[in-house]
Amino acid sequence: MSKSMVKKPLKLNNEKLNWLDFKRLVELVSADLKNYKLFATNPEKFLTELALDLDPYLAKEAVDIYLKKRKLIDNPYLTQVRKLIQPIYNDIAQRVDIANFTAPQFQKWIQRKKKALAWESKEARKILSHFNAPVMFELSQGCSGQCDFCCLDTRVLTETYRYTEDNKKFWREILKVTKEEVGDAASVGACYFATEPLDDPDYEKFIADFYQIFQTFPQTTTVKGVANIKRIKRLMKQLGVEELQKAKLRFSIVSLEQLKAIYQNYTKEELACVELLMNNKESIYPYSDSGRARSFHKDGKNFATAPSVCLIGFLVNLCGKTISLTTPRKPSKAYPLGMEIISSENFSTSEDYREVIRKMIKTYMPLKINKNHQLRFHSGISMKSKGNTVTFLGEKIKQSLSLSAELQTALKKLQNEVYLVNNIFKEKKYSNFLCKSVLNKLQYLYNLGFLEILERKE
Ligand code: SF4
Repeated sequence: MSKSMVKKPLKLNNEKLNWLDFKRLVELVSADLKNYKLFATNPEKFLTELALDLDPYLAKEAVDIYLKKRKLIDNPYLTQVRKLIQPIYNDIAQRVDIANFTAPQFQKWIQRKKKALAWESKEARKILSHFNAPVMFELSQGCSGQCDFCCLDTRVLTETYRYTEDNKKFWREILKVTKEEVGDAASVGACYFATEPLDDPDYEKFIADFYQIFQTFPQTTTVKGVANIKRIKRLMKQLGVEELQKAKLRFSIVSLEQLKAIYQNYTKEELACVELLMNNKESIYPYSDSGRARSFHKDGKNFATAPSVCLIGFLVNLCGKTISLTTPRKPSKAYPLGMEIISSENFSTSEDYREVIRKMIKTYMPLKINKNHQLRFHSGISMKSKGNTVTFLGEKIKQSLSLSAELQTALKKLQNEVYLVNNIFKEKKYSNFLCKSVLNKLQYLYNLGFLEILERKE
């Protein structure tokens, strides 16, 4: 039967509104373009062969809308997907609300970083709500995954943080301090970053403590969906249905063979709330142009300018006892991993850890800038001036503003290097009135994310 012979039903039979089968269909067509082509050529045959009980016309329509091959219109499958997904977005949005940050300036800093990222990358601009984790913990050094698409170019696994009596006490203190200094917003964090969570044999114990402190589990994304099925099924039980429904478990799919093994070892019901991230090379999704994934350029793979990291905030490694303030960046020569480390420090006690968080918030995130701040113009945004008009340019975005000659001079200096604002004022011998006026306008650009503080001079 050709696709033109598949007819739109007058009314969708409720039994055909089968979420589990629709999820499976979307996974299959996104895992491999060949599957999409087979489905698009003959939806009915494809669905019958895979025993997916869906209406062929509406399923095809939904898949095409989902893959942005046609405009958004009402479709019962997509309505159902939205109903299931919206509560997850709502939960995250509520958790990262400013009221859940101990220091509101941290949340404002995140907002500025997002604005800057939106200028750097047109793809990141469409998915800004994905960059939402203010803290992430690593429980190992390196990663056993060694995926050839790893956007973070992780090193091999060398150490894991075990749940010894001392470490248990320390971890609980770290979580407590995190809750006090960052706030409940930290609950959207995770206990992995450039690591594989299940590399740590005690991972489940660490996340049980996380639950005790934040009343929710951190999201687990694992590449080991079939490496130890008994362990994953235990983890599913530990998370429970309510947390699984909040997308707290995701499998990173590295190959079509692994996808097949996942389907063989888990029922559709078990996978109902487990997101399968199609990272295999045949997938229709692009890789972020960073880390080891760049080697796939030679294979004609699609790439995105959006970074793959969702962390805007503190990256904490328990093995090395390090804390770094990081932000996603458009992957480039300067940021080959799609992230920038703004500052990094060691800590040895939980009180040290608290002090570093406080210091970094105070140093890099003030709400108001003053002449004693060292500023840099964001390197992902460029400027062109013509008379009083300055045009700011990002990736497929621009905005023109009318700016004074003095402000333009200041911006040019900040574009080339990190500069103490007061030094510009002194060099140019600006009057008090001019200093105030330039500072006001710099504050405006700072709020837009165009300027950032690198170090504060007391
Ligand atoms: S993609 Fe994830 S699992 Fe794979 S090497 Fe990188 S960090 Fe490890």
